[in-house]
Amino acid sequence: MSDKYYRNTVLDVNLAAVEKNYRAIQGINPEKTLIAVVKANAYGLGAKEISEHLAKAGVSFFAVATLDEAIDLRMHGIKQKILVLGTISPEHINKAVQHRIAVTAPNLQWVQKAKDEVSDKYDKAVWIHIKVNTGMNRYGTSDVSEIMEMITEINSFDRFIYEGIFSHFTSSDEDNDITSVEFNLFKEIVSQVERPENVHISNSGGALTLKEEFTTAVRTGIALYGYYPSRYTASATPVMLTPSVKLSTEIAAVHHLEPEESVSYGRKYTAETSETVATLPIGYADGLLRRHSGYNVKLEDGTECEIIGTICMDALMIRVPEHTDAGQNVIIIEDSARSEQSMESYSDYTGTISYESLCAFGRRIPRRYA
Ligand code: PLP
Repeated sequence: MSDKYYRNTVLDVNLAAVEKNYRAIQGINPEKTLIAVVKANAYGLGAKEISEHLAKAGVSFFAVATLDEAIDLRMHGIKQKILVLGTISPEHINKAVQHRIAVTAPNLQWVQKAKDEVSDKYDKAVWIHIKVNTGMNRYGTSDVSEIMEMITEINSFDRFIYEGIFSHFTSSDEDNDITSVEFNLFKEIVSQVERPENVHISNSGGALTLKEEFTTAVRTGIALYGYYPSRYTASATPVMLTPSVKLSTEIAAVHHLEPEESVSYGRKYTAETSETVATLPIGYADGLLRRHSGYNVKLEDGTECEIIGTICMDALMIRVPEHTDAGQNVIIIEDSARSEQSMESYSDYTGTISYESLCAFGRRIPRRYA
């Protein structure tokens, strides 16, 4: 998207808040490398802008989900270490070599295939992080002898560098013993093999609540953006996060409804008395769900107004006080955890989580950075 935009529906991203969150998370993990997770366009907030800002603030390591995301960051001039957390096809290994990107090895077969694919075109080595499966059953292996063989294969090939070993928690945002079980399994497995420079397992939930000295790094995404993975994490951590996102728009039109008149597709909302209705130029193509009908947004003076009727692709209607004018600013998500329009309330309303709400923001909403 170009830097110029002609739309009054805007997603404000507070980079100073992101930086503050980085320092707060690092503060309780002072000895560890913070790997900033900027996959999915930094959870919808803009991988380039977030990474550039964090790199200036001192972040030396980024992680993404795909090789394309990693190459994109390199194209934008990010020079720091970048790890692809998902797996790449072995035949794409030379792209990782070319762009100096670290990759994940999920099993022995992958290492062997990737080794066969490495060409002499680029005279460089590629960093490899071995993925350990501690219960997620998504990527990785828990077989110690397989991991040992992977390490032997990597170490015996001069174009591979054994740089890391890691896993991923299934339930670090929940109040139960699963995280300790997974952490202990990880420790047990890693203790039996050669220890590389980077050993990591915690996501935001782990980084905010787990005290341990076994690993050397944490990988945090959502917490950097100012949101707790869950209410449990919010209550269990000493860290105060600062929400970084505000979503606002402007009233585009105002209508007066007589009793029995209705609004939007399917005429699902009918006025009982005479009412004033304002149209907001934001719809489900921007990431609001049709299920947000009934949710309250907020006018400049603090009046809460209900979304009424069916949410359209590019617009939705709200019930407003009688003398409301077009052009007025309306807050849909406020950058405060205490607000009725917080990211948490907005997500709870449709039964989802901040992660999904953030990733759902449409590409066409301008991101404005401060
Ligand atoms: N590590 C891996 C492997 C992930 O898939 C994710 C995100 O889903 C993260 C770290 C970051 O998680 P969070 O946003 O909870 O910090």
